[in-house]
Amino acid sequence: MAPRLTGKPPGTQMPPVAQGRSGIIMGSYQRPADLDAGLQALAAGNLTIVAGGTDYYPARVERPLAEDVLDISGLAALRGIEATEEGFRIGAGVTWSELIATRLPRCFDGLKQAAREVGGRQIQNAGTIAGNLCNASPAADGMPPLLALDARVELASLAGMRELPLAEFVTGNRRTRRRPDELLTAILVPSPTRPVRSRFVKLGARKYLVISIVMVAGLLEEAENGTVAAARLAVGACSAVARRLPELEAALVGRRLEARLGGVVAPEHFAGLTPIDDIRAPADYRRDAALILTRRLLAQLGQGA
Ligand SMILES: Cc1cc2nc3c(=O)[nH]c(=O)nc-3n(C[C@H](O)[C@H](O)[C@H](O)COP(=O)(O)OP(=O)(O)OC[C@H]3O[C@@H](n4cnc5c(N)ncnc54)[C@H](O)[C@@H]3O)c2cc1C
Repeated sequence: MAPRLTGKPPGTQMPPVAQGRSGIIMGSYQRPADLDAGLQALAAGNLTIVAGGTDYYPARVERPLAEDVLDISGLAALRGIEATEEGFRIGAGVTWSELIATRLPRCFDGLKQAAREVGGRQIQNAGTIAGNLCNASPAADGMPPLLALDARVELASLAGMRELPLAEFVTGNRRTRRRPDELLTAILVPSPTRPVRSRFVKLGARKYLVISIVMVAGLLEEAENGTVAAARLAVGACSAVARRLPELEAALVGRRLEARLGGVVAPEHFAGLTPIDDIRAPADYRRDAALILTRRLLAQLGQGA
C-alpha cells in the first residue's frame, strides 16, 4: 500500500500555544515516528489523538484548535492489514480506501460496501476505520459490519496491551472504554470457520455523500445442506450504539438460503432499538426503515449476492 501524504514529517513537534499561519491559536502538536514515542506522549499528558482528522476537524469549525494534539498518521506500526493465525489484523492507521483496495475474503464484503459509502473519495482516502469506531457516533458506518464480523479492538499503552470485543468498546454516543493513555492499535477479525455471505445496506436522505438514517449489516454462515448455520446482524443509527439483533439471528438458524429469507423478519425483532427523532428522520421512520432494510439485506444474502 502506498504511504499517505500528510502535512508534517513523522517526528515533528511544535510547542504549545503556537500561532498558526491562519492566526488561529493552537495547542501543541506532535507527530511521533514510532509507536513507543506515541505511547510515551500519551502517558505524559492529556492529548487529543488525530488520525485522518475527518471527524476531528469538522467538530471544531470556527473554534480555536486549542487542544494538544497527537497526530498518529506517521506511525508505521498502525499501517496495513495482515492475516494472522486467528484471522485478520486491521491496523488503526488503515483508511477506508486502503481497505477497499486490499484483497480480502468474502466475510469482508459488507465492510467494503460500507467503506464505499463513507463520504466521498477524499474522506475515504484520509479517514481511518479505527477513527470511525473511536469517534463513537451512533451513525458510524463501520460499526454494524464490524459487529457482524465479531470484531475485537486492540488497545495499547505503556502499561501493556489489552483486547476488548467491539460490542463492549463503544459504550454510548461518543463514549468508549478507551483510557486517556491508550491508543487503539488494531481491529481484530476472526477467520470464519464456514463459508459466509456478508452485506451492508444504508439509507440516507440521498444516494451518496450522506450520513446514515439507518444502516444494516449482516453475515450468514452457510451449512453444507444449504441452510443458515449461524447469523450475525447489526443495525446502526437506531440507538446510541449500533446493536445486534439476537432474536432474529436465532430465528434464521436452520432456514434455507433463498430469496425468501427476508420473510422471517418481524417487528418484534427490533424491540431492542431506541431510535430518536432528529433532523435526519423521526424515530418511527427509522424503526420502519430498519425492518425494510433488514428484509432486503436478507433477501440479497439468501440469493447469495
Ligand atoms: C464530508 C464528510 C462525510 C463523512 N461521511 C461519513 C459517512 O458516510 N459515514 C461515516 O460513518 N462517517 C462519515 N464521516 C465521518 C468520518 O470521515 C469517519 O468517521 C472516519 O472514519 C473518521 O476517521 P479519522 O481517521 O478521520 O478520525 P479522526 O477525525 O482523526 O478521529 C476521530 C476520533 O477518534 C479518535 N481516534 C482516532 N484514531 C484513534 C486511535 N487509533 N486510537 C484512539 N483514538 C483515536 C480521535 O481522537 C477522535 O476523537 C464523514 C466526515 C466528513 C467530513
